[in-house]
Amino acid sequence: MGLTLITGPARSGKTRNAIEQLTEYSPVELAQKVRYVVPTKEAARQIELRLMERLGIDGLLGNVVCTFFSFASEFIAHEGLASRLITDEKKELTLRKLVAESAPVYLGRSAESPGFIRALDQLIGELKGSLVKPADLYQALSMADSELPGVSAIKLKEIAELYHVYQDKALVEHELHDREGLMWLARDFVKLETAPQFELVVFDGFDIMNATQRSFLESLVERGQEVLLLLTYEGGRDEVFAPSRATREFALDLEAREVAVSSAEGDTLAELRAHLFRRTGSAENQEGRLAIIEGCDPLMEVELVAEEILRLKADGCRWGDILVTLRAAGGYQERIADVFNAAGIPLAAAKRSLSETTMAKTLMGCMAVVRDDWPRDEVLRLLKSELLNSDNDAACEVEIAAKNRGLVGGVGPWHDSWRADDPNYDFRRRALKPLDEFNKIRSADSLSVMTEAVRSLLESFDWRKQDDDSLAEDAAAHRRLTELLNELEDSAGSLHLQKYSDFFGYLEELIRLSETEAPPSRLETVALAPAESLGAREYPVVFVLGMLEKVFPRAPREDAFLRDWERKKLNISLGGRLDYRLAGAAERERFLFYRAVSAARERLYLCYPLTDTEAKDSLPSFYMDEVRRVIEAPRLIRRNHAALIPTPDDVFGMPALTRAAVYALADGEATATAARTYNALSAREPKLLAGVWRDSRERKARLTDERVLARLAERQKRWSCSELETYALCPFRHFIEKTLRLQQIRDEVDPLDTGSLLHDVLQSLFGDLRAEHGSGLMMGRLDSEATISRALTILDEKMKRLPRLAQLAQYEKETLAHDLRIILSRHLNAEIENARTGFVPAYFELEFGRSGESYGEPDPASVETPYIVETGAGPIELRGKIDRVDIRESADGTTGAVVIDYKSGNQDDVRKYVDGTKIQPLVYLAAVEQLFGWRPLGAEYRPLRTWKPNGVYAESSDIIRKKSNRRLTDSELETVLEECGGIVGDLVERIRAGRIEIEPLSCPSYCHLLGVCRHEKGPDDGFQ
Ligand code: SF4
Repeated sequence: MGLTLITGPARSGKTRNAIEQLTEYSPVELAQKVRYVVPTKEAARQIELRLMERLGIDGLLGNVVCTFFSFASEFIAHEGLASRLITDEKKELTLRKLVAESAPVYLGRSAESPGFIRALDQLIGELKGSLVKPADLYQALSMADSELPGVSAIKLKEIAELYHVYQDKALVEHELHDREGLMWLARDFVKLETAPQFELVVFDGFDIMNATQRSFLESLVERGQEVLLLLTYEGGRDEVFAPSRATREFALDLEAREVAVSSAEGDTLAELRAHLFRRTGSAENQEGRLAIIEGCDPLMEVELVAEEILRLKADGCRWGDILVTLRAAGGYQERIADVFNAAGIPLAAAKRSLSETTMAKTLMGCMAVVRDDWPRDEVLRLLKSELLNSDNDAACEVEIAAKNRGLVGGVGPWHDSWRADDPNYDFRRRALKPLDEFNKIRSADSLSVMTEAVRSLLESFDWRKQDDDSLAEDAAAHRRLTELLNELEDSAGSLHLQKYSDFFGYLEELIRLSETEAPPSRLETVALAPAESLGAREYPVVFVLGMLEKVFPRAPREDAFLRDWERKKLNISLGGRLDYRLAGAAERERFLFYRAVSAARERLYLCYPLTDTEAKDSLPSFYMDEVRRVIEAPRLIRRNHAALIPTPDDVFGMPALTRAAVYALADGEATATAARTYNALSAREPKLLAGVWRDSRERKARLTDERVLARLAERQKRWSCSELETYALCPFRHFIEKTLRLQQIRDEVDPLDTGSLLHDVLQSLFGDLRAEHGSGLMMGRLDSEATISRALTILDEKMKRLPRLAQLAQYEKETLAHDLRIILSRHLNAEIENARTGFVPAYFELEFGRSGESYGEPDPASVETPYIVETGAGPIELRGKIDRVDIRESADGTTGAVVIDYKSGNQDDVRKYVDGTKIQPLVYLAAVEQLFGWRPLGAEYRPLRTWKPNGVYAESSDIIRKKSNRRLTDSELETVLEECGGIVGDLVERIRAGRIEIEPLSCPSYCHLLGVCRHEKGPDDGFQ
């Protein structure tokens, strides 16, 4: 009876021997009489598997293999204490509150830094693990006070005060415990007569024990419990085993019976374990079991690891056989997750932040809706949420309608019917019902009512119908949220959360600090674990990443709160219970590396990058030299900057394959592997592949199916000039917008809105003026001040009635109105000053060839007859709406016309009609000649912001030629109009032929289709 200590180097069979002892028990006896205690859950899982395999059973009863915490909890539960454990999140919030309230002077500055609370939490954890209670710390301080410099004494007193308030006020007074506090309790309970007694307790993987663990073990031994302690230790090798020597000495002080086992001679890895840090031995690297991976940077390092894992898998290795370990996670964890994900390597899921789960996001969205008075974007997000049992199509329709209505927020508008035939009214009411209920939380007056409202909301979420993975994630998040609500209720007395807004703030903070358990994967996965947590775990294949100096081994660092010399002073009173950070650091690092190396059964890969992420040279760990001293020729896998782009057939894994394929195709080497990769990736990585597409292939895209072409020809009976101009500018954009009719959602007030508003104002103004003056309306005779004033009144009226402007804040409306007033005033002023003699502004929004509903009020003189352009392939019908036509009656009884196209944006040049992108004014001029019999005198763009009309005019118009204009004889003008007819015919023929090339004449900077067409913009593409 008593303590048996089994010592030996790693993988010398200690665990196997212990498991062998358990085979004497039946499964039921094991559950009742034996406990096998390990440091982590993952280690417990491995031991369970080994035990079940040895016993030939599929499962274990009870808590046979357990972590130290769960073992200690058994003693607490046995005494009937229903422990209330403070969660990590609540602990963090509590510490934050305590620090804020105590307003420390010395620590005040550092208390504002983001890592302060975590560091304080770790220090308290260390003090408690070292069995230093607040009173002990005070006493140690008072004893050391005279030897401490003033600032140090102040700092340590502040730390002692924070520790005392946390332990005695925040925990004890509210009957709460943290994990270390529960260990204290368990240590006391284990001494009781009534405490559970087992036939055998095995401790495996506790090579470095803290004071609590030692004390617990001591109590077990004192009460006669048979204990087996497995220790990684070998005499005569202090360079490696110094850290576990202290545990051995402690066990021997308890009169342990020591059994030393030694490692059998073996393969390369056994040689490495046996001689590491001894600087002796030169073993052969059998079958390349030891490999070194050298990437040119940290990303390449991880990519090479991924490639090697894929190779191993192809050779029959299982995912679950592989461990990836590292000393410090740093940026590695995310990088590994990204690269492995892209390579299709399943990685054991890490814990997730609760705030990243769909359920927590939806809950926080609901809180934002209630708190911020139903803001549009948040409500729309929720309407699309599957958890609210939504209908995505209906939600998209609601989104468009809400944006077009200019709805910005407020609970009322979401519950109104928006039109007599509002098709989504019922959907909105149904989908928003849970939110309506939740909205009542605003009038809640107690924490219990508020937590109940959140519980009801969570219950209304429809998450149980989802696929297995989402279901597991949602279930974990639901569980965690419910726990948080329970905790909140438990702490009602100390929290003082009376208003819903404070409650939301606190709950959101808790959610942000919380993590959910990773859902158990149905797949076997590659394990990822820090070197510190490996314990006695073993895997056939181990990759140790980040083998860099100051990373592994980590640079020795003092503790930020308690310097080593301060620990020394305090230890006089504390009996040496506080560990030192600098002393012994090198031994601890060597021991950790030894454990990481020993975790490999068959293959070991030591990996490092040659440079850091900023391309600065990195220094490989000196441990690599130690390894090379033992094993003669480790296999070297390396990729440097000169070989960044291997051929597609030489690489494993998607990132490397993608890069290799892209470069191979761009160079015109379309191997089968490269082409296959391209095809697989073209949908996923359009931007990446855009360059390849441009450089390596012709882009003569064309619709060829006769049925499709016939449908297009049948549908397209009457053409508009703007459509033809769009085609001339970019056939692909025309295809998307005009053929497929995909439209951009315009939810913000943009230049199109302001342009059509100005058009409207001018149309109304000139309509009124014409009604007053009839054919005698001459611009030059108008009073400019009165005319401008009329226009501004019309502008104000129209702005009030425009629903899309409702979404603007008041100051934005005022700024917009101010700008528009200036534009109108300047424009009308200039027009009156530069009035053309003999011309009357006669028609506004003059429409022809209308084939359906028309936007706005057309001029009464509009006709339904289309303008016909005769071409070799038959007549083409055109429709259009002319902004304005000024006419001049001649003495010979003929009527001449100038067609005006208002431009609210950039200046356009009519003279550039030849490429088809500026044909509208001239085509309209030809149309009014054909349809109304007016003699063509001119066609112009008239910008609204400046007085610079730009046009093509007949000499007979008498319009003075300016630099930007072109003056033609009447017959020359006729020829230009005929030319435009030819351009129209050509454009229509290309559209009918189904040509949809991505060959824009230029890409306007506002084109919203860039992500679809994947065109690479050049310097000429509209980014002036
Ligand atoms: S971005 Fe350029 S190429 Fe692409 S659709 Fe728009 S105009 Fe055409």
